Amino acid sequence: MAYIIREVMDNEDPPLRPKDVEWKYRMQSTYGPGYARCTNCNNSWGTQLCWLTVNLKQRRVVKWWEQKCKKCQTPNRMRIRKDDLYMMIEMAIDKYYALIDGTFRKRRLRPTESDPHDMKLCERCRYGEAEQPCWMNLWY
Ligand SMILES: [Zn+2]
Ligand SMILES: [Zn+2]
Repeated sequence: MAYIIREVMDNEDPPLRPKDVEWKYRMQSTYGPGYARCTNCNNSWGTQLCWLTVNLKQRRVVKWWEQKCKKCQTPNRMRIRKDDLYMMIEMAIDKYYALIDGTFRKRRLRPTESDPHDMKLCERCRYGEAEQPCWMNLWY
């Protein structure tokens, strides 16, 4: 997926070059729609809260946050459609700039009733051990 990060950074105006990325903010987490098919039991599901952590200096994904299968509890890496991945990387870069220029603000997203979020199945929620669910800590 490194080529997508490269492409999005190069398409910035002006392009965001790795050597110009501020060390302090090089790591950014972002989220978007993802889906999984369980490697163990073939169960499939989707989520609006699929998380990635990218290193903008290295232009790579450093962490793919996993979700456990509801049926068999096996942790699975989420898949992300290419268009959604572009959107997620753009969001990470927007957040990066907002942190630098001080316009950064915290945002909260409440999961809808049709798409509830089970903390016990989400690695980003530390499988239910986190004090707050991941959707309370969305950063722009
Ligand atoms: Zn399963
Ligand atoms: Zn979560």
